[in-house]
Amino acid sequence: MIPTSLPGSPFIAYREGSLFVEDVRLADLAREHGTPVYVYSQAAMLAALAAYQRGFEGRKVQICYAMKANSSLAVLQLFARQGCGFDIVSGGELQRVLAAGGDASKVIFSGVGKTRAEMRQALQAGIGCFNVESESELEVLNDVATSLGQRAPVSIRVNPNVDPKTHPYISTGLKGNKFGVAHERTVATYQRAAALPGLRVVGIDCHIGSQITEETPYLDAVDRMLDLVRDIEAAGIAIHHIDFGGGLGINYNGDAPPAADALWTKLLAKLDARGYGDRQFMIEPGRSLVGNAGVCVTEVLYVKPGEQKNFCIVDAAMNDLPRPAMYQAFHAIVPLEASAPAGGGGEHVYDVVGPICESGDWIGRDRRLAVQPGDQLAVLSAGAYCSSMGSNYNTRSRPAEVLVNGAKAHLIRSRESVEDTFRCEKLAP
Ligand SMILES: *Cc1c(COP(=O)(O)O)cnc(C)c1O
Repeated sequence: MIPTSLPGSPFIAYREGSLFVEDVRLADLAREHGTPVYVYSQAAMLAALAAYQRGFEGRKVQICYAMKANSSLAVLQLFARQGCGFDIVSGGELQRVLAAGGDASKVIFSGVGKTRAEMRQALQAGIGCFNVESESELEVLNDVATSLGQRAPVSIRVNPNVDPKTHPYISTGLKGNKFGVAHERTVATYQRAAALPGLRVVGIDCHIGSQITEETPYLDAVDRMLDLVRDIEAAGIAIHHIDFGGGLGINYNGDAPPAADALWTKLLAKLDARGYGDRQFMIEPGRSLVGNAGVCVTEVLYVKPGEQKNFCIVDAAMNDLPRPAMYQAFHAIVPLEASAPAGGGGEHVYDVVGPICESGDWIGRDRRLAVQPGDQLAVLSAGAYCSSMGSNYNTRSRPAEVLVNGAKAHLIRSRESVEDTFRCEKLAP
């Protein structure tokens, strides 16, 4: 009954049959805050960051946490205090960074659809770099910067055309993807950028996808990037930093991505061999810093035997945790209390589903569980792209969030009230 090894973090584990995050029993948090509730381990996040820091020891690197993975203010604050910068994809994210005490000069702004207003906001805040994704964006950014009397620092995001071998929705570095500038157009695009008076070329950037579990796509992308750095610099344009993006995968279900330090040791050896090892580097990890640090605790509402399937209906749904519905993603689901179930029915195979009126509203399929109403379950590896992708669909209030540090648990987001969910709405006259 007790799962012997949980995918993910050593900071989330059973102690005498009860699931703990660090030194806090999840059942206690569920009682205090209700369900569904997100719980994060601070130690797990810091350990994930430390793996990158070890990999880069002795190098010039700025780690920019890709905050769309989990943009809770307290999570941003934690990384800001460790010296991290942030990879943002909207003006809203910039405001969050500033609200959390982050340093604007360590912010890089990615995304294919930046608006003029967002560019202005970012220039006024003094961000470190715009990762420009198209030739037309260059012209608009030049325009906005010139009107403010500024020169915008830019990197161009190149599309290295390597296959990251991940889900098509989170694969971003292939020719058919909307991201970045095509490899063949890169030098010409840099020449254009260098000629525009409102821009200052500072670097080069790529990001090939997400939940990457092999090292080969990274090694290939580095080679393609360095070929471009050589060609751009041969054209007389200096590249001050090289940004390798994010995308390193985590263990959801027995996945075995390379550890961050091992991966970077390999990549840096390649950079050294090609004579680029002493450059300023940037990386933009998201999922790998937070994904395995979080769980979503949910309560079983009903158990419903069906003709073809048994359903375990829980109080968390696709609005709280959208990855299964969006990407058919797998999250391990385990009981909070792994002692023998009181009522006896034993184990059955269930689809674990939420209350939302959509057949796509599922959290896990074909899971072997011994459950009855009132039992609580933890959805694992829920620290990345879960809460941050949440919505209010079906007028469901967004869950509370708790950050655990050792034996201490801090409420970092209160459960939304229903009034919160319609605060911006008005009745027609
Ligand atoms: C989402 C994103 C990242 C982070 O990806 P992860 O897979 O979470 O590490 C980094 N850079 C850019 C440009 C992104 O869009």
